[in-house]
Amino acid sequence: MTTTVPAATATATHPAVDRPTVDHPTVDRPGADLDELIRRDPGAHRVLTGDRPTGPLHLGHYFGTLQNRVRLQRLGTEMFVVVADYQVITDRDVADRLAEHTENLVLDYLAAGLDPDRATIFAHSAVPALNQLLLPFLSLVSVAELGRNPTVKDEIAHSGQSVVNGLMFTYPVHQAADILFCKANVVPVGQDQLPHLEVARTVARRFNERYPHLDGTGVFPRPDALLSAAPMLLGTDGGKMSKSRGNAVALSATADATARLIRGARTDTDRRITYEPAARPEVSSLVLLAALCQDRAPELVAEEIGDGGAAALKRTVTEAVNERFGPMRARREELAADRGYVRQVLRDGAERANAVADATLAEVRAVMGSV
Ligand code: ATP
Ligand code: MG
Repeated sequence: MTTTVPAATATATHPAVDRPTVDHPTVDRPGADLDELIRRDPGAHRVLTGDRPTGPLHLGHYFGTLQNRVRLQRLGTEMFVVVADYQVITDRDVADRLAEHTENLVLDYLAAGLDPDRATIFAHSAVPALNQLLLPFLSLVSVAELGRNPTVKDEIAHSGQSVVNGLMFTYPVHQAADILFCKANVVPVGQDQLPHLEVARTVARRFNERYPHLDGTGVFPRPDALLSAAPMLLGTDGGKMSKSRGNAVALSATADATARLIRGARTDTDRRITYEPAARPEVSSLVLLAALCQDRAPELVAEEIGDGGAAALKRTVTEAVNERFGPMRARREELAADRGYVRQVLRDGAERANAVADATLAEVRAVMGSV
């Protein structure tokens, strides 16, 4: 079962990766208030976000979260980016080509504009104290709560596994450890992650209530999700664009591969192109994609195509994607020539993340009385 969520509404201009950002949309979208708060005081916010190393990042990642990360980094917010490698084995028997996927993920980050001097990029398996937080956190949620999580249910449905392992159910709590180990209060994510973020908020609140500092204050902040203008970009089959569902257009895809994939995208039979996310999710998601690439309003893109039909829409989208991501692909190729650098980025990130995680774990053990 695919979660059917309409393509997002986007009404304003959107920042390009290479430009300093000023005009981010702040209306008609969850997270808009948070966006304004961050812009006013970037130093008061700490960002954690990340991805599973299960394949190349795609357009959904870029417009769902990666663009926001780069924007927040430019604003000067402190940033942690986790390569969630343990979470690969939630729905796979074997974490196939893990090292390769991890390095490719870092390449995608760097090509998109994440700066390893400003963002701490690390794999969570390299940070033992982070993972140790899972133990107290697991005691704070009930089995029934874990079983109700809609994203976990959706991922189980898509994994095609006959047997579901325990890590799959504890995935959101593990993610709470990812977020809270560095006391992040902002998490730029796609819509599918909102239920997980709710778990992280619950864990933070319950931990603070059960184990307050002597002065009554809590160890953890309650993190907020930051959604973009495209919190659920659809893939070529009309479901959520996902690395592991064979429906994605990778950021690193060639211009030709991009054209082929978009040509095969599902649309509908109505010749007139409109932007109506609820009524026409597939067509609207394509319109939105072109609009995001061109920093324009989706209604305008749809109006220009008018009666041109799906073929004209797909031509517009292909051109827009290839133009927007051409420079990023070229940058990625240059970076890919030096794998040693990529590994160094991960080593440096792990070192910084370990220092932060050790300090948080020490604090956790102290309030729990386990010193
Ligand atoms: P997998 O199929 O392995 O689960 P995925 O494509 O769903 O891969 P994740 O690593 O699970 O990617 O997600 C990383 C981040 O990207 C999350 O914040 C998620 O919400 C966001 N994201 C993933 N897909 C989309 C999408 N189609 N639209 C917007 N955001 C997305
Ligand atoms: Mg996913």
